[in-house]
Amino acid sequence: MNYKSTRDSSLNVTSAVAIAQGISADGGLFIPESIPQITMDELKALADMSYRERANVVFGKFLTDFTAEEIAYCTSGAYNTNNFDTENIAELTGAFGDAQILELWHGPTCAFKDMALQILPYLLTTSLKKNGEDKKVVILVATSGDTGKAALEGFKDVPGTEIMVFYPDHGVSSMQKRQMATQEGANVGVCALDGNFDDCQNGVKMIFTDPAVKEKLAANGMMFSSANSINWGRLAPQIVYYVSAYAEMAKRGDIQFGETVNVVVPTGNFGNILAAYYAKNMGVPIGKLICASNINKVLTDFIETGVYDRNRDFYATVSPSMDILISSNLERLLYILTGGDDAQIRDWFGKLAKDGKYEVTDEIKAKLTSDFVGGFCDDAETKKTIADFKAKYGYTLDTHTAVAVKVYLDYIAKTGDKTRTIIASTASPYKFSASVLDAIEGVQEGTDEYAQVARLAEVSGLPVPPSLAALKDKPVRFSEVIAKEAMEAYVLKKLGIEG
Ligand SMILES: *Cc1c(COP(=O)(O)O)cnc(C)c1O
Repeated sequence: MNYKSTRDSSLNVTSAVAIAQGISADGGLFIPESIPQITMDELKALADMSYRERANVVFGKFLTDFTAEEIAYCTSGAYNTNNFDTENIAELTGAFGDAQILELWHGPTCAFKDMALQILPYLLTTSLKKNGEDKKVVILVATSGDTGKAALEGFKDVPGTEIMVFYPDHGVSSMQKRQMATQEGANVGVCALDGNFDDCQNGVKMIFTDPAVKEKLAANGMMFSSANSINWGRLAPQIVYYVSAYAEMAKRGDIQFGETVNVVVPTGNFGNILAAYYAKNMGVPIGKLICASNINKVLTDFIETGVYDRNRDFYATVSPSMDILISSNLERLLYILTGGDDAQIRDWFGKLAKDGKYEVTDEIKAKLTSDFVGGFCDDAETKKTIADFKAKYGYTLDTHTAVAVKVYLDYIAKTGDKTRTIIASTASPYKFSASVLDAIEGVQEGTDEYAQVARLAEVSGLPVPPSLAALKDKPVRFSEVIAKEAMEAYVLKKLGIEG
């Protein structure tokens, strides 16, 4: 299995090269040349395996240049109970109507980003070794709140790496900010940006692909990589939990092997739902992929009209990790849907960069809507969903998962679809305590994050994640805020390279 770039189909690299580089030099994203298949017999065999063993099977199909031992080293380092608070790694709830919730937030930072970022450092360092690369790897991260902390936790004090995280100063929850500002480790840096997530992501992409900066790094024995979902090493681990969840449901008797399930994903950068698309195209019986957005509904509009238009107001919402107008991983989907037409991708994404807008052909639109359903809800509906779900089932949703639940409920109300459904739950409600409490019992005046966490424990009955409780006693290490134009200088200074 080799990897191409979405903007250059003639490129042909191993997964180890794709993971080490993070993004292709042409600005495109690395993508497997084909989608490997999983048979029903293989799926059945997964039922009796642990999460780690299931991951070994899935990775074995995508990372064919890794040995079985290398893959096992990576999965055993990541998917264990030192890092996750459940042996199952991802927890599947019982049924709420026809839907079940796949809790992807049992890792150290309480968001689904841990599912990939606990293993990415292993995949990356193993890739470097395989490539005979001895440069120090500088990982630049743009985050809407959750990736940053998960990447910092994954990479802290990993030898041969240095990590820098940029987040929108006013675009993250207070708990998210505190998680990042108190990060420990000798090789970490955290910086707030006077801008939104798209500014962070654009800035990072520009630094990555600037040949002059790259040269400066090389002259100092360093190279860039990415821990964002533009890195294939982020995507592959996310495919695992959809394959695993299907096997788990069948094992538990919730479905028969072969029965179709739908998947609902609260979406921002389109990484998580793209992983579900891969699982479907590997042969996991998945029907509709339901793409749930908050009021920044650029994806809902795209699925509906075939026009991707980022020229619109940007809203800060109660589901901040989805406050995104440029969904990077859509590029991978469109590459697949066009049959690998790199010229078409260059055209569309050139237009996106230049005019903020592109329109796909009717043929692509038809392909898109045969798999994907789009939907969105606003903050008021998100909060009402949290309150209603709590009242009906006693289960406390976080703000992002609530968006998915609301879009799912709208979908079944409209279609009457009774298909068994997996709703991806992307964060612990504790990460967004203030908004969740506001939803359930009204605004909490004058209380800090920790008082909110204590109150949410009483209201939800869920155990407080020890990693969040421990933040209270940790000193703030990072409080710098910079302009978006100053990102490159910040990076070079931090690395001890003059500008
Ligand atoms: C990152 C994130 C999302 C969006 O996921 P994408 O893969 O970027 O679409 C949704 N919810 C939470 C809590 C997140 O952290």
